Amino acid sequence: MLITIINKSKLWINTTLILCFIGGINFSVFADVENNHLKKVSLDQPNIKNHQQRIRPQLLSLIKSSHKYTQSIDINKKIKLNINTFTNIKPHLNVAEQFLFAIVKARLAHFQNKPQQVIKLLTAAEPLEKRIAKAQLDQPLFFAFDLLMSKSYEKLKKFDKAYKYKRNYLHKYGRNNEAQKKHLVKLLTNKYQTQKMAQENKLLAGQNALEKIKIQQVTQLKNNQKRNNFILIIIGISFVVIMFRQYKIRQQLIKLSRTDVLTGLVNRKTLFYLGEQLHAKAQAQQFGYSVIYFDCDKFKKINDEYGHQVGDKVLQTIAKIGQEVIRTRDVFARLGGEEFALILPDESLSKAKAVAEHLRAKIAAHHFSSLGIEHTITASFGVASLNDNINYFDQLINLADAAMYQAKELGRNRVVCHDNSLNISDDLMPHNSADSQHKVTIRST
Ligand code: GH3
Ligand code: MG
Ligand code: MG
Repeated sequence: MLITIINKSKLWINTTLILCFIGGINFSVFADVENNHLKKVSLDQPNIKNHQQRIRPQLLSLIKSSHKYTQSIDINKKIKLNINTFTNIKPHLNVAEQFLFAIVKARLAHFQNKPQQVIKLLTAAEPLEKRIAKAQLDQPLFFAFDLLMSKSYEKLKKFDKAYKYKRNYLHKYGRNNEAQKKHLVKLLTNKYQTQKMAQENKLLAGQNALEKIKIQQVTQLKNNQKRNNFILIIIGISFVVIMFRQYKIRQQLIKLSRTDVLTGLVNRKTLFYLGEQLHAKAQAQQFGYSVIYFDCDKFKKINDEYGHQVGDKVLQTIAKIGQEVIRTRDVFARLGGEEFALILPDESLSKAKAVAEHLRAKIAAHHFSSLGIEHTITASFGVASLNDNINYFDQLINLADAAMYQAKELGRNRVVCHDNSLNISDDLMPHNSADSQHKVTIRST
């Protein structure tokens, strides 16, 4: 029966050993395993319970050296000396330390091949287990107790006890291994998470850099847009300025094409254009208008005497005098040379004649001494008014022109009206040069 139990226990131990071997743990070097775990107890062993007792470093170092037991007498002596120093150490050893101290002494006995002494020492220490936290007992330093007991009983051929302690040892070893694994997993998880966070940070930093680049690109785009807008505005303004200048030039050209360069008055072409328009309107709306035609008297003589430039200035002065006499709606034109014409909308022949007389008198009264001309300058006037026989504007101009020639023939410096019935003015009396003597007969209408 005993042999069967022993065989069974051996089988179980062997199975466990094989399993552990597969798990990467070589039980043939238990001492080394314990040795490796020495540091972990005090340094990085996880605190499973809070009631674990503190192990002083001197004792830990003694435990460590007790593993290196050799046949060297010196080392043995040293260990024994160390053991003696712990006998009366202050402060006194706590329960866990007492337990470990017993293990150290038992290990020495084990190495000296004294299994009975080992069992005696450890059996004496065994009651202390109840006062040590379970988590602490599961640590390699402590479960060395079971291993030493198992080995010693095995030496004494007490296999049932050897089996019992070996089983305890393996349970504790397994639990410890599990805790180590958990701890390792926790460490790895932490490491993994740290790495993950570092990678995430790296990723975020990359994304930030990307965002920064995007912001830079957007800013550049905005700047480009601003620049383009600015260029567009400049182009727009330039276009408007060019268009305005074109418009002004065009207006000037139109003005030039419509006006006389020397006097600034309406030119012949424009006079006829405006006259035709007025004529059509007058006929459509049944209102009248009159035309005055005048020519400077003996102007060739002025040019000959004072020069062409002075002649020009005389023409400019006459144009100015005429502009002072007319109303804004009247048209005053230079037909060419020293000939002028006026269109007076809504004016009867008598009123037009009065205007012509007024203008004639003003020219005749004007002093041209600033131009070096001491004598008077006069002009001859012809006046015609719209009647039923007139179909075109130029007909009326021709009638006024004819009347003007009449005035020339009658001695110049006078106004002659075209008589609608006689085709000639009813006043053929010559005028004297003196203004007061100008006798103008107004056609009775
Ligand atoms: P009349 O009393 O018969 O009209 O005599 P007149 O000398 O004025 O007539 P005529 O037609 O023979 O001469 C017109 C002169 O006007 C000829 C020309 O020297 C002058 N004349 C024509 N156009 C201009 C001009 O633009 N400037 C100047 N200074 N003289 C001009
Ligand atoms: Mg003339
Ligand atoms: Mg003339």
